[in-house]
Formats: sequence, structure tokens, C-alpha cells
Amino acid sequence: METVTSTQEIKLILAEKAAELGFEAFGVAPIDAHLRQEYFEKWISEGKQGDMAWMDNPRRLDPKKILPEAKSMLCLGVNYRQEPPERRYRIAQYALGGDYHKVVLKKLKQLCTLMQEYGGAQKPYVDTGPVLEKPIAAQAGLGWQGKSTLVIHPKYGPWLFLGIILTTLELPPDLPHKDYCGKCTACVDACPTKAITGPYQLDARRCLSYLTIEHKGAIPEEYREALGDRVYGCDECLDVCPWNKWAQMTQEVKFQARDYPDLKEMLAWSESDFNQHFQGTPIKRLKLSRWLRNTCVVLGNIGTEKDLEPLIALSQRDDPLVVEHACWAIDKIKSRLAKNCSQ
Ligand code: SF4
Ligand code: SF4
Repeated sequence: METVTSTQEIKLILAEKAAELGFEAFGVAPIDAHLRQEYFEKWISEGKQGDMAWMDNPRRLDPKKILPEAKSMLCLGVNYRQEPPERRYRIAQYALGGDYHKVVLKKLKQLCTLMQEYGGAQKPYVDTGPVLEKPIAAQAGLGWQGKSTLVIHPKYGPWLFLGIILTTLELPPDLPHKDYCGKCTACVDACPTKAITGPYQLDARRCLSYLTIEHKGAIPEEYREALGDRVYGCDECLDVCPWNKWAQMTQEVKFQARDYPDLKEMLAWSESDFNQHFQGTPIKRLKLSRWLRNTCVVLGNIGTEKDLEPLIALSQRDDPLVVEHACWAIDKIKSRLAKNCSQ
């Protein structure tokens, strides 16, 4: 006799498979879940997405426009926290190793294959599709969208890569997660550029993560000092969250931090040197010009006399963006040296 698997059983089987694939978090939201529509629309209308034009896509608010027969949204999380290497510059933890898009998408696709066996049609996304991962994660019960606007998982803190699968399977939804930020404002207080303009409000145009990664032009001077030693991204609002208390280090070997040379050496890189060093990492998409732009700002903040010569050589390049930032760094280092001499 043919046995019929209930949707609850299918969900359990999928959760088990997800754990087997290395997902630490799993949840289901209904396709019509509340996605903080008002916040998103206001955010876009105020231009707080900056250069990220792709964010302004109404399909984000209506996943049925992507997959018309969709009934549920699966949300999956992979822990990426790790001990950052000791270097004189910082790279955000999510970008220390291999590209999470590839790693997480591969796992999602394996889950989709299993879902197909139960008659579902699926669309998986990792950060690049027109879906609002964070509100979906909160609605699927993975965690809550904290005052930093990041999803806080009660066990893994804010260190989860999120993957979404839209599916035509109607799976029993989880309850949205309760907000446990309480009176804490650590992330709001710690943000070096006041990009978290208030609880649950983020102005991406001020965010160092946006400015060092998504933003294409010059880094506005008003934020350069606040950038400190962060050459790619910023983890400040993640690091200070008290929900890190139970956070563990990632089990995914592909996320392990890679070795890179010192910034001084990078100043002489060609495009092919850059590509070679960052092959298979999220940093590769930045391209050499913006990497050097960021490097110059960091050296302007922390560089020493030894960095001057390669910076001067860099300032001769045929790239106005790099030249302007190299000159800024040279001025900063020189004025620091002059100040030290006069003390
Ligand atoms: S990533 Fe850094 S700059 Fe951006 S909101 Fe968080 S603390 Fe502020
Ligand atoms: S730092 Fe505090 S306020 Fe910010 S997300 Fe974490 S718990 Fe919430």
C-alpha cells in the first residue's frame, strides 16, 4: 500500500537533511509572511540603499511574483563565525575565506533536489536574489531582526549566512521569533559612523560595510577616519551583540580564513595579482581599484613611514579613484609623522 507523507513529516525530513548538509538553522515561513513592508518602502523612498539599485525591486515584497505557485519559504542558516587572524588590517569575518554564495547555494540545491521528490518546485537564493532574507528569517523563527537590523539567532548570534528557498510545497510554518533585544543598544552605540540611525533603522550610505564593498566611488572624507583598519566590511555591530555569548566557531572548512600579504605589498598589485589572491572569495567582486581605494584609507589611518614609498608609487597610477585615495593616505601619514616629531 502506498504511504502518503504528511507535510509535517516532509518538514522533519527536510530539517534532518538540512542539518546533515551543515545548516545550523532551519525554519519555514508562509509565502504571505509579514516582511516589514512599511520599513522597506520608506527605506527605499529615502534613498538609504545608496548605490544598491537592485534593492529597489517590488518583487522583494511579493515572493509570488518570483514563483507564482509558491506556498512556503524555507530559511536556512550557516554559522560563519571564526577567530579573525592577527594582521594590522581587518576583513569582515564573512569574507575571510571561500565565497559563501557558492558554498551555501550548493547546499540549498541539494535540499531542493530532495524537495522535488515530494512534488515541489523550488527557487533557492543566497543574497543575490530579489528576496528579503532578514525579515523572512525572522518570520521563519530563526531569530529576530535586532536593533542593528541583523538577524540574531539565540544560539549563533548575528553570524549566520542566510539562504532562502521558495517552494510550491505547503509546509507547516514556524512561529516568528520573539525580539530579545530588550533595553540593549550596544550595536547602535558602537557603530563607528552612526549608520544605525536609531533602533531597527539602518542608513546603508553611512555604513562601512556598504562604503567599502558596495559603494563605487570615493569614500566620503567624513567617514575615512572611522573606517580605521577595516579594509573590507565591518563587524562592529556583530561583535558587540550580547547574544554572542553562546556563539560557536564555524564547522565549515571552506570559510576558514585565508592568508594574505601585508597591505604594503598589495599596493604594488596588478589586476591579475588581485584576482589570483582573491580567487573564489567574496572579495574578488570588488576588483582591484576599489580594493586599493580601501587599502589607502586604512593606511591613511594606521600606516607608517614604511608605507610612504609604495603609496607614492601608487599615486602615479592611471586610476583617478586610486590616485586621490593614495594622496589622501600620504598626507595623513606625513602629518602624523610631523606631529610625532614636534612632540
Ligand atoms: S557594519 Fe559597522 S558601520 Fe555598518 S552598521 Fe554595523 S557597526 Fe555600523
Ligand atoms: S547588540 Fe543589543 S540591541 Fe543590538 S542586536 Fe544585539 S541585542 Fe539587539
